Amino acid sequence: MMGVFHDLENYGHEQVTFFHDKETGLKAIIGVHSTVLGPSLGGCRMWKYTDEQAALRDVLRLSRGMTYKAAVAGLKLGGGKAVVMADARTEKTPELLAAFGRAVESLHGKYITAEDVGMSVEDIDTIRKYTKHAVGGSNEGGSGDPSVMTAFGVFQGIKAAVKHAGMGTSLEGIKVAIQGVGHVGYHLASYLSAAGAKLIISDIYPAQIEKVVQEFGAVAVEPDQIYGAAADIFAPCALGAILNQRTIPQLKCKIVAGSANNQLEVDSDGFDLFNRGIVYAPDYAINSGGLINVAAELDGYNHERVLDKVSKVYNTIADILERSKEENIPPHQAADRLAEQRLVAAKMLKADVKETVCR
Ligand code: NAD
Repeated sequence: MMGVFHDLENYGHEQVTFFHDKETGLKAIIGVHSTVLGPSLGGCRMWKYTDEQAALRDVLRLSRGMTYKAAVAGLKLGGGKAVVMADARTEKTPELLAAFGRAVESLHGKYITAEDVGMSVEDIDTIRKYTKHAVGGSNEGGSGDPSVMTAFGVFQGIKAAVKHAGMGTSLEGIKVAIQGVGHVGYHLASYLSAAGAKLIISDIYPAQIEKVVQEFGAVAVEPDQIYGAAADIFAPCALGAILNQRTIPQLKCKIVAGSANNQLEVDSDGFDLFNRGIVYAPDYAINSGGLINVAAELDGYNHERVLDKVSKVYNTIADILERSKEENIPPHQAADRLAEQRLVAAKMLKADVKETVCR
């Protein structure tokens, strides 16, 4: 494939492996971006990509993101991700999942898989029959659906951002506009409502909207009206690239803090938010609760310990926002610097250990 090595050099991956299984039709790519902090962990995305280049770009981008997410969350894990080129609704079969499980097993634990778009807890259960290196299943010690912990982490991050923005320590009466009330958005609405926040919501599925309106007294608006909603906080919990030149000028909020991955369409959108005085809680730092949850399986899952660890997303966001203020850089850059510092420190430690062993 043209340009593969060029892409690898740009993204700085350790290993990218292509898997093809003629019998089941499996076409998968596993990207191991970094194992500096530990084995690489990241979900498997099943998606009908337009072409192989699009699948490769996605796995490279997503696996690098996982390195940063794990580093900022303080986990002893590296960044990896897998993509399976297939339509999850029509092409997913037990045989295909088995072939993917065997592919993961062949990397001997350098990559640990989990769920992502197009994959469910049940699919992880199937994959686990073929590899030990899969987390997020319903087995004993399995952590299951990560979205509750993701939402809990986002809730903590919101509290830290509210304090940083000088809006106090209580969410009572604070207006939050949530874009997308699916798995994470629904649980976030529940935490916010219990804390006394007022909710404005949007979704493209009426059934999701109805549930949140009924249960938490939320006010629903049309999908394209959520950006300009009269809210203190905008919480994107649906799609990526929703902070861009079309949407940022519509925002009336003081804070953007939500679970969606890759919220900034381009890097300069982070500068735009910063220059407008809008506090942005970097996506991969605030949405790490799900990763912390699945990673806990590797040390023996304990719910209380996970709750405690995820509640520290508060400190992570507070530290990043403080650094952004001190260094006068946008929060997304402050988060990247924090991750890069941890990676450099771990690399140096590894090099020291190697030298000592060789001597
Ligand atoms: P989900 O599919 O359950 O929910 C997304 C919701 O957004 C759906 O209800 C969907 O109808 C709605 N939606 C789609 N397009 C929309 C639009 N244009 N306007 C308004 N609503 C729209 O997904 P999820 O698991 O809740 O994840 C939400 C986001 O958080 C995703 O970006 C995901 O990558 C990210 N994330 C999730 C987790 C997790 O634990 N599930 C962890 C980290 C990051």
